[in-house]
Amino acid sequence: EAITVQELANRMAERGADVIKALMKMGVMATINQTIDADTAELIIGEFGHTVRRVSAADVELGLEGEADIDDHLLPRPPVVTIMGHVDHGKTSLLDALRQTDVAAHEAGGITQHIGAYQVTLPSSKKITFIDTPGHAAFTEMRARGANVTDIVVLVVAGDDGIMPQTVEAIHHAKAAKVPILVAINKMDKPDANANRVRQELLSHELVTEEMGGDVLTVEVSAKTKMNLDKLEEALLLQAEILDLKANPDRSAVGAVVEAKMERGRGSVATLLVQKGTLKVGDIFVAGAEWGRVRALLDDRGRNIDSAGPAMPVEVLGLQGTPQAGDVFVVVESEARAREITEFRAHREREKQAAAGARSTLEQMFSKIQAGEAKEVPVVIKADVQGSVEAIVSSLNQLATDEVKARVLHAAVGGVNESDVTLARASGGMIIGFNVRANPQAREMAKRDHVDIRYYSIIYNVVDDIKAAMSGMLAPTL
Ligand code: GDP
Repeated sequence: EAITVQELANRMAERGADVIKALMKMGVMATINQTIDADTAELIIGEFGHTVRRVSAADVELGLEGEADIDDHLLPRPPVVTIMGHVDHGKTSLLDALRQTDVAAHEAGGITQHIGAYQVTLPSSKKITFIDTPGHAAFTEMRARGANVTDIVVLVVAGDDGIMPQTVEAIHHAKAAKVPILVAINKMDKPDANANRVRQELLSHELVTEEMGGDVLTVEVSAKTKMNLDKLEEALLLQAEILDLKANPDRSAVGAVVEAKMERGRGSVATLLVQKGTLKVGDIFVAGAEWGRVRALLDDRGRNIDSAGPAMPVEVLGLQGTPQAGDVFVVVESEARAREITEFRAHREREKQAAAGARSTLEQMFSKIQAGEAKEVPVVIKADVQGSVEAIVSSLNQLATDEVKARVLHAAVGGVNESDVTLARASGGMIIGFNVRANPQAREMAKRDHVDIRYYSIIYNVVDDIKAAMSGMLAPTL
């Protein structure tokens, strides 16, 4: 009736660390050798898109046949791209312009629907999927909820403006997610645009472009004149090839909720991005704490389709409730099973809420450090002046031992904002405010999401606390 984390991972052919992560997301702290109960194991199996055979109520057996993605079944899939960058650098314009490069649109008709993501077919008949809620807030919020949908980040930098504070935030969000960055230097139609200056500036954020001997691709574009959009798409396909993106289309679908809302006359409508398998009309699925039966599938032009394969975004009708963006969705074999899982999840959610004060990200991290599973203390640093930012970063870097080190996710001048909280949450880290405060929204979010924000005015105290954190000995402030 119980199974060790290692055994469970083995049977699913998943990495132990991924299973531990999935458990943490459910609020269960376990090391690789610990046993977990059958119900928890079953939920984890569902999260990974495998199916479960329950031999007896308390005994869980995994049905593995055809479930793990066997190599022969893996086929290349389109890359999923998110566009990030500073406000007004042209993210929306670029998304609109790229959308118009879709060759399939002209033949097939239909009217552009903004469903949160769209897919472009290139003249080569290769495809690229774009998430069309630009910005790193949505990106990291989804990641914090468990969905890693983005394969490549396009960092838009206006050639006439260069790297700005939100450009730096975006770089750090992408790096924290370990997603490769491709730089689109936009507004190159403007006379004062200077791509080389942008490349130079990227260098100081550890993005070394090809021109400078590194491996970061840059493309000079104009969303306005549509210059070099084909080059940008080629670069994305090249990057995708390097990443060797593959998925098995011949299995039940697993993916993520990109967007979900209640619509009058249509009920709950969600945009799902299929990540593995193929989603079909009639499928029963669980999405976060909700479930549904696919009544209709619509593509990004509002056309009815029968099925959607890997990397395809689709609008789905037939949900019983409204899930949240970033929720994982999994097709299950029956309605009874879907109800069972959602009820279990609702129950677990209530238990979690009831448990005296949910564990903070810091506490979760400490358990991992003490269990030898985590080797990093992720931190976001905000300070009043650049000198302090640099001083803190360099003192933290000096603290690194063989066992554990501080990992600076983002360090910048300014107060603690919502973006900092999302970033810290998604990486299970903490925030250091040096002579700065958090804005009220950020404070609310941190409280809700159990992210530790600590305030300091003496660098020595920062160093002391991080040292304590690295040994898992710091008392949370929450
Ligand atoms: P976002 O805030 O990053 O989504 O930026 P927008 O797409 O809203 O663009 C901000 C402004 O820059 C708008 O006025 C656009 O018309 C303009 N813009 C965007 N791309 C270009 C471009 O390639 N060339 C020029 N000249 N203007 C652009």
